[in-house]
Amino acid sequence: MKIKETLAELLGRLRLDQQEIGERLRFLDWSREDARRLQAHGAQMAEAQYAFVEELYGHLEQFATPSALLRSPATVARLKHSQGAYYRDLWEGRFDADYVDGRLRIGMVHQQVGLELKWYLGAYRLYLDRMLTSLFAEHPHCELYASLLKAVFFDISLAIDTYSVAQHSALEDSEARFTRALRGANDGLWDWHVGQDRLYVSERWANMLGVSRDAIGDASQGWFARVHPDDLPGLRQAINAHLSGDTALLHHEYRMRKRDGDYAWVLVRGVAEESEPGQQRMAGSQTDISARKQAEQHLRHAARHDPLTGLANRTGLDEQLQQAVQRQHQLGAREAALLFVDLDRFKLINDSLGHAVGDRVLVEVARRLSGCLRPGDQLFRFGGDEFVVLLDNLNCSSDAERVAQRILDGLHQPLQLDERTLVVNASIGIAPLQDKGKLLDALQAADLALYRAKAAGKAQFARYSEELQVAAQHNLALESAMGQALDNGELELHYQPICRLDAGQPYLAGVEALLRWRSGERLIPPMEFIPALEESGEIIRVGDWVLQQACAQTRAWQLAGQQQLRCSVNISSRQLQQAAFIPRLIDILQASGLPPASLILEITESLLMEDSEHTLASLRELASLGVVLALDDFGTGYSSLSYLKRFPLQILKVDKSFIDGTCGEGELRVISRAIIGLGHSLGMEVVAEGVESPEQLDFVLGEGCRYAQGYWFGRPKPAAELQRLFSQPDGRAGVVCLLPEAAAQPARSQAQA
Ligand code: C2E
Ligand code: MG
Ligand code: MG
Repeated sequence: MKIKETLAELLGRLRLDQQEIGERLRFLDWSREDARRLQAHGAQMAEAQYAFVEELYGHLEQFATPSALLRSPATVARLKHSQGAYYRDLWEGRFDADYVDGRLRIGMVHQQVGLELKWYLGAYRLYLDRMLTSLFAEHPHCELYASLLKAVFFDISLAIDTYSVAQHSALEDSEARFTRALRGANDGLWDWHVGQDRLYVSERWANMLGVSRDAIGDASQGWFARVHPDDLPGLRQAINAHLSGDTALLHHEYRMRKRDGDYAWVLVRGVAEESEPGQQRMAGSQTDISARKQAEQHLRHAARHDPLTGLANRTGLDEQLQQAVQRQHQLGAREAALLFVDLDRFKLINDSLGHAVGDRVLVEVARRLSGCLRPGDQLFRFGGDEFVVLLDNLNCSSDAERVAQRILDGLHQPLQLDERTLVVNASIGIAPLQDKGKLLDALQAADLALYRAKAAGKAQFARYSEELQVAAQHNLALESAMGQALDNGELELHYQPICRLDAGQPYLAGVEALLRWRSGERLIPPMEFIPALEESGEIIRVGDWVLQQACAQTRAWQLAGQQQLRCSVNISSRQLQQAAFIPRLIDILQASGLPPASLILEITESLLMEDSEHTLASLRELASLGVVLALDDFGTGYSSLSYLKRFPLQILKVDKSFIDGTCGEGELRVISRAIIGLGHSLGMEVVAEGVESPEQLDFVLGEGCRYAQGYWFGRPKPAAELQRLFSQPDGRAGVVCLLPEAAAQPARSQAQA
């Protein structure tokens, strides 16, 4: 079987087809006549040939190499016999394909048993010599011709050796180069005859797996049996794709089992060729890429994890979230939700105790959060002090709330760091992955809910709802529209009178500047857009503009005769937090020429609640400039008496909601009375806000309140409209002016009473 295949291969390489055989015979001038001549004499040469065969073997025995091959008498007998048969064929002169086949076969056997060419050729010389003697022994030049044969055969053997050695060494060179290159590349080699399933692998190929070549064997089973079961289909597919011509190269990475049972990652490369029609053969290399795979895995892990807590990071979250969303598409999928966890006031820990402590807190928080989760829930560090929990496979939506509550409880336990005890709280936003059958951007939805939880006072959770989304969109639209309002000149100030209620006619003592946004046809009241301005920080620029406008306008009125006129301006806490606020205010006052005592800054209780040293220092500095400070909307917040004493406040504005309630005999009347009394006893001016009716005016007058503001006296109006008031005839001209609207009301007499 082997010989047959090798012979076929040899024939293929020699390209000894009919044409080649014909050409060779033509060059030898071979003709039919030659064949006929040989055939005619064949029989009479038999005896001489027989004698020659005997002589040949005797001759060969005198030389060490051939005699070593001819030790067995049985072999010698068989050889002599077949040699006799060969000479008979030779004298037949039929040099067809069968004949050539037979000669090649014998040549191959001789080569395989190690008989060098010189003995082979030498035997031919001897043969010709003996035939010569037997045919022409009597001829005078017979001996001469025999000598020529010897010389020519010597040369023939030299020529053949030169050719074959030269070819051989070229091959050896290229093989040596190939081997060196392979050793350098550290690759294993393989060669697979696909049709016959004959596999050759190099030593290095097998060593990569810690086994010898023998352990692999010479069939592809030895290779494929070691492939990781998960990778085998992929490898087969890659091989088939290449064999069927779909890919130019086989290039595939997969795992192979090593001797110790571990798996090595390898890269196989190869190309197929058709050795004969229909016979595919593939060969290539195999490289151990385990180290690269490991490095890749490290990188992949690092890219998806947070080094501090070891938790998966945002990239990891994105991937897991995508998969969870995919699962939501499946029939009968259970509910899933995201929790967005943000630590409350974590910045304070970082700022006051340092980042090292902050880091330890985060590690502990991560540990506690993990402890609150069920198997299958996933925890991620989103960044900074933000964590995200992905809850898959929930029974019902309230399960997510239960987990959130557990987290709040778990985090709230005091945290011991060396000598220090810290309490860390968190706010949590909860969002389902699907809402009413629609997929949500769960991360954004949970963030929205988190914002809600923070706004509602922190240390709690809030659930996402559609209303939240709508409100957020509205705010966003508002914020972006607001961003341009100031530059587009859409903001304007209206002024509302504040009156002094001395016995007799109410007189204009001052105005409160109130912001308006003219957006298209609409005049939007401040409650609708101030929160958005504060959120975006735009309130700082807008507040600055308000101050400039109000100061300049008030100064203009003063110069036009209302010398005593004061102006109240509302200040947001974000403005006061600016370090540049006071220097800027001084500039504005100077630029407008308004005396500081003519400016009243209205602040709210929420600002005082922050109660920081900075607030106190700022307010004291403002007071020392001579600016008047008023506490606005008193009663609606914490209404703490301590503010009133601690901060340099001169005016208390009683919120409209109390004045509204003064008509009946209810509680609010009592409270209003108490607030007014409290202000007076602390030596403050008290202003009643939102006075709309003569009854209310009666009440505040009755309580000795000296200032009031409200629709009863006048609504907020643009400066130009208010201007008209000042031109009215006036009892105490140049100081304050009579308020004609109130004066026109029948209630005036009551007020005077
Ligand atoms: P506030 O400072 O308490 O201003 C008084 C609010 O009560 C004004 O509402 C005013 O129009 C309204 N008001 C006055 N009298 C009556 C009345 O008799 N009946 C009723 N129903 N309402 C009355 P407005 O102008 O809508 O302002 C609302 C709030 O917006 C202000 O409350 C103030 O906190 C804030 N605000 C207004 N302008 C500014 C500003 O320039 N900067 C800042 N930071 N806040 C401002
Ligand atoms: Mg106010
Ligand atoms: Mg108010």
